[in-house]
Amino acid sequence: MSEHRVPAIQVSRTGGPDVLEVTEITVGTPGLGEVKVAVTAVGVNFIDIYHRQGVYPRPLPFIPGSEGAGTVLEVGDGVTDVAPGDRVGWMSISGSYAGAVIGRADQLVPIPDDLSDDQAAALPLQGLTAHALATSSYPIRPGDTVLIHAGAGGVGLLLTQIAKLRGATVFTTASSDEKKSLSSMAGADHVLDYEGFAARARELTDGAGVAAVYDGVGKSTFDESLASLKRRGTMVLFGGASGQVPPFNPQRLSAGGSLTLIRPTVFDYVADRAELLSRAAELSTWVAEGRLTLRIGATYPLVEAAAAHADLAGRKTTGKILLLP
Ligand code: NDP
Repeated sequence: MSEHRVPAIQVSRTGGPDVLEVTEITVGTPGLGEVKVAVTAVGVNFIDIYHRQGVYPRPLPFIPGSEGAGTVLEVGDGVTDVAPGDRVGWMSISGSYAGAVIGRADQLVPIPDDLSDDQAAALPLQGLTAHALATSSYPIRPGDTVLIHAGAGGVGLLLTQIAKLRGATVFTTASSDEKKSLSSMAGADHVLDYEGFAARARELTDGAGVAAVYDGVGKSTFDESLASLKRRGTMVLFGGASGQVPPFNPQRLSAGGSLTLIRPTVFDYVADRAELLSRAAELSTWVAEGRLTLRIGATYPLVEAAAAHADLAGRKTTGKILLLP
């Protein structure tokens, strides 16, 4: 039974990175089924930017972030799965930009010994997203050719590697030479410029087009992504790093060749705890076996969250970025 006074980041009004204010909060005692964790690393995700901007509205004020890793400090009544001292990771505890958090025990995943806290904070949201996209939103089959936008980004690097594990030929896009080379190192067979990518994807598939496009860039790529698909191909729209896609006429799916459009959110693929644990276990195994490489592109002190957001939104980052309390 104790209170912890810890640093945190707060948003009191929506806007640019400057609305991320440094503050201090008191984290009290965990209730029934809850656990208090000392946070050692916080994952930064694009969704944190949408929350900060108000694109996905949240009641104000709020502490952003949902992902991290740390060590259990205290458990509430009824908690039997974890104990003080255990290392745990999570992707859906609201208010993770803080030195300590309270979450439900069933939101926590134990960290295997061979994963560091930084890796455990880096993997959940982008890793589970990449896993769900490649195995369920459009399940990649051996021999498929797929196109993945922002191939050097957090989701992009992981999704590329998982697509290769599943036997695909992978095309990616990336905006700089450094990003292109990272994407190639992750296994991309062809890294394309954004400009004219649909024509190039068609050229590389002898005019047929790709089986699926994984598009987290959104507004600036959506139309050309549809134009890259083969007959009966699948458009997996999973984000809007360049802005949200405007309203859409379903008739375009017919004109494009009986296409499928899916707009998945990872939370629907891990809502069931057994599914969460099985996806997380597969990802951890791939990392432990060296089949999946996690790139932590940058770390920032928690109090520099605004710089981390500016860099992520400004296309300056690669792989995962972390905040360290
Ligand atoms: P990334 O690390 O991929 O960063 C975004 C990247 O998008 C940039 O680095 C940049 O790469 C590219 N990009 C292209 N155009 C723009 C633009 N106008 N502004 C900013 N970036 C641009 O981020 P994440 O891996 O965290 O997320 C990638 C996408 O996945 C996001 O849209 C996010 O919302 C989505 N996502 C969706 C989830 C879901 O459940 N549906 C879950 C997790 C993430 P480059 O410079 O090479 O173009």
